[in-house]
Amino acid sequence: MRKPSLETLVAQLDGEQLLSDLETLGQVGLRPEGGLARMAYGAADLEARQWVLAEMEALGMSATMDAAGNVIGVLAGDPALPALAAGSHTDSVPGGGKYDGALGVLAALACVRTLQAAGHRLRHPLLVVDFAGEEATTAASPTGSLSFVGQLQEHVLDQPAWTGQSTRRLLEEQGFEPTAMAANHPPMPIAAFLELHIEQGEQLDVADIPAGLVEGIVGIRRYLVTFQGQANHAGTTGMARRRDALVAAAPFVTAVRDVAMDHRIVGTVGRLAVHPGAPNVIPGRVEMDVEIRALDNAVLDRAERELAERARAAGATFFHGLRNEPVHADRRLMAALELACQQLNVRYTKMPSGAGHDAMNMAAICPFAMIFVPSVGGISHAPEEYTRPDHCVTGARLLLAALLELDSTLDA
Ligand SMILES: [Zn+2]
Repeated sequence: MRKPSLETLVAQLDGEQLLSDLETLGQVGLRPEGGLARMAYGAADLEARQWVLAEMEALGMSATMDAAGNVIGVLAGDPALPALAAGSHTDSVPGGGKYDGALGVLAALACVRTLQAAGHRLRHPLLVVDFAGEEATTAASPTGSLSFVGQLQEHVLDQPAWTGQSTRRLLEEQGFEPTAMAANHPPMPIAAFLELHIEQGEQLDVADIPAGLVEGIVGIRRYLVTFQGQANHAGTTGMARRRDALVAAAPFVTAVRDVAMDHRIVGTVGRLAVHPGAPNVIPGRVEMDVEIRALDNAVLDRAERELAERARAAGATFFHGLRNEPVHADRRLMAALELACQQLNVRYTKMPSGAGHDAMNMAAICPFAMIFVPSVGGISHAPEEYTRPDHCVTGARLLLAALLELDSTLDA
């Protein structure tokens, strides 16, 4: 029998089943007032994971939950070849939507279902991973993928989780062992990781483009900028004599916006602490958390220099805080995704991801690429989160087409 063509195989992907799976999983942890409450390692999250595990088994995969709670399904291939991998996460923020993460996991399962139904055996083993604790509801998030790649630092788990207790305590209560999580590693070598995810921004929706190929995940740099003035009585100190730290800090808030816009990046002042913080006291000190994000380190360097100069000119101190490096998608995987878009006649654009994803952790062990599908109105992490059914199915088909392409072109 001749093998079906890629287009024929991809057209056989059961979109109705994928949409029905999204609805079914979307009922797990659904709050009466709307939105999901599948926070990491809570009861609803674990129920969803068990559901995914059972689905994997029903599809003929060997499925396990690893030390970190990642659910891993393996579709057998040539054991001498490294695996292709696809997946995302099924945990949610409080009040999250049913597409964020779940789409990537369920679409990967839809790919497996299509291959199994057609009797099409991939050369490479295929791993489908439902990563645990992706959302920032635990310390060290995305926790599951960090553990999967062997980079989880156990001491970080002493930081609080969404329950208010330490992440370590939450994990131990659910039967997980932090030491085993820190010693975790991938079950087999992986040649490529693909993640389908909703965009969570409005770029695709506004431009009416069904697919975004993610060039990389932005780097994040944070700074603590401190303005020192003199606290004094708000009633008896004349305006000319004041050294008001908040008045000095105010123009810097708009400076962050201006610098970000000049460099075509995003910049945010997300926190201001005004000391001593009383209505009858002139602010004596202001601390400001400044964050910038971009895919290009050179651009971040330039924006950072300008911010530091402006802070110094305003008499502030500028401390360098968190620095997460940008991670870039693999060229060969991007080419496979572009080819998939062309083969399936899907319009696409290339874009950075401004949000973190499991794929950024996977970058430590293998090449990765991501597909974004439009979030209507750019809304996510909210009950109103919505991605059109045809866009969900298109995303799944692109994932399958890219997996088929990589299976035939990637070598050991
Ligand atoms: Zn997500």
